[in-house]
Amino acid sequence: MITQAEQAVLDRIDDDELIAWVQALTRIPSVWKPETGEGEAEAAAWVAERCRAIGIETHVEEVAPGRPNVVGWLRSPGSAHATYVEGRTPKIGSEDDHRRSSSLVRPRVLMFEGHTDVVTEGDPALWTDPPFSATLRDGKIYGRGANDMKAGLVCALIALKALKESGVALDGDIVLGAVCDEEGRMLGIKHFVERGWADHVTAAIVCEPEENHLCIAQKGVMWIRVVISGVMAHGAMPLTGVNAMYPMARFLTAVHALEEREIVRHGRHEFLGQPSITPTIVQSPVRGGGEPQNNVMPGAAECVLDFRLIPGQDADALAAAVETLLRAAVAVDDRLSYTCQVLEVRAPTATDPAEPVVRALAGAFTDLSGAAPIYGGVPGSTDGTILNARKGIPIVTCGPGDIHIPHHIDEWVSVEEIKVAARLYVLAAIRYLGHL
Ligand SMILES: [Zn+2]
Repeated sequence: MITQAEQAVLDRIDDDELIAWVQALTRIPSVWKPETGEGEAEAAAWVAERCRAIGIETHVEEVAPGRPNVVGWLRSPGSAHATYVEGRTPKIGSEDDHRRSSSLVRPRVLMFEGHTDVVTEGDPALWTDPPFSATLRDGKIYGRGANDMKAGLVCALIALKALKESGVALDGDIVLGAVCDEEGRMLGIKHFVERGWADHVTAAIVCEPEENHLCIAQKGVMWIRVVISGVMAHGAMPLTGVNAMYPMARFLTAVHALEEREIVRHGRHEFLGQPSITPTIVQSPVRGGGEPQNNVMPGAAECVLDFRLIPGQDADALAAAVETLLRAAVAVDDRLSYTCQVLEVRAPTATDPAEPVVRALAGAFTDLSGAAPIYGGVPGSTDGTILNARKGIPIVTCGPGDIHIPHHIDEWVSVEEIKVAARLYVLAAIRYLGHL
């Protein structure tokens, strides 16, 4: 049930403003263009300006040239956090705060997380409306980034505004992390963590487009690059060299069998389905190894394996298994050799539905919609993966926007879902943090 105090905060949400803000932020193209250095700066400045206008502590930090993070911090009365990155040690628990001083419970800090970058719009001619027009039609806002994820970010901002304006005395802090480079190498969230902003965060809501489902699991990813080297030769005299492609073929067949074993062993995850190992690049000659020619047997072959991991799988053990397969593939000839390089590992995440942040969101969903929440999983990884892997923060991915539409031409977001998401965030924050 929604209490009177909660309703008073919800009543502060102005839907016209919410829609106008989503449109305004969508109209700022924030595609990272390394050749010109254009990126998230303008979108970040817009978010920072809103944070300042709302009246919360606002920090802008340059992650890379032209690529800032924005950190907004809404402090509870008597909060001990927030300025520690400037070198001060936070004092946990003030004397007049009975609950904290008596139980030494660290006050909760809820993070709302979003990224300011969007992927390329592709060919603008393929769009019904100009890609950054943020056209409102039939209950939808169209535009690159409207769905992924300007809308979710604005919902968090509007929730913060309602909470701040209402004057509700939350028993904990809220931090908004509007970070850069999620679509690339996740430099923004990594910087956020390295700067210490995540140190006191006790739970995070990742505002990515999930149709307001409660996504409590995320697949992990591991990329491995393999090169098998033989001896280059004339195609007419193959016996004067050693062909690297046959061992590569044997290796790939063995990888396929490894994938099947992993599927049998780990089964289907309730929200994530089965794990996979996909060769995404297979080529010879290797990248940088010269032009392919019909009469040249290249000296080496390479492949990249894209592992998608579910909870229970061990990335290190899989990387070791790959090495074992490689050793076997090259064992037939001592002139064959291999290299194997793990390019990236992001572990899968799983959050217990009993976590307070999940329960707060679930209760909020039911009270707002009258229906049971829908739980789900995220097939890719998000910035939340970094928060969970590096700081052990329980994460839920939950935000407005059709799950399948990110990165598409004519990307859109539902106005109805935006309205629900902003209210979900308000209620979840009040219930997760509690109020005095
Ligand atoms: Zn996204």
